[in-house]
Amino acid sequence: MTERLFKCPICSQYGKKENMIREEDKRYYHLEYCHTKWKRDRAFKLKEREEMDSLVSTIVRLHKLQSVATFPRTFYPFIQELRNDSVLFGKIERRYKEGLTYKTIEDTYLYCADKIEWAKGNKEFKNVMSELRYCFAIVKNNIENYFRDGKKLSKQKAETELLTSHVESMRDVNQVIIAAQNKAVQNNKEKIDITSLFD
Ligand SMILES: [Zn+2]
Repeated sequence: MTERLFKCPICSQYGKKENMIREEDKRYYHLEYCHTKWKRDRAFKLKEREEMDSLVSTIVRLHKLQSVATFPRTFYPFIQELRNDSVLFGKIERRYKEGLTYKTIEDTYLYCADKIEWAKGNKEFKNVMSELRYCFAIVKNNIENYFRDGKKLSKQKAETELLTSHVESMRDVNQVIIAAQNKAVQNNKEKIDITSLFD
């Protein structure tokens, strides 16, 4: 009887059970390379999913929409197009090796929060989709600005944190000095007390 072989979904080659591992999707993956790749791909997909969910809930919040559940499905392709935008990707890639992630899109949305608020208050939109698309164009146009200012902002933040920790350490130094001075005063008092015994 010939041994049963399993087709590995990663490399499409057949393998023996002892050289493979069965995953939760009930399929067999070659140990090491193929299985590692499967785990890596799964982690990537999960991260993408989480970042996408976070992005959508930010859009819902900024546009004051009812809920994520009622967020128009027809808007997803626009987001995905930007995620995969090779032109934009190429422009930013040189500086940001990770390219344009959902996280970056979300951060740019937050960066444009005031502009979105203004557009909502001053423009007439015929429906939610046209409002979303109009503001999405604002976001797209501000990605380079976000990278420029975002970097500046994080630098400022780092400097502020450094200053704060410096102030805190100075406070610690002062406390040590005050404690030492108090101790010195105390010692002097004791000295005086001792000498007073011989009066
Ligand atoms: Zn394989």
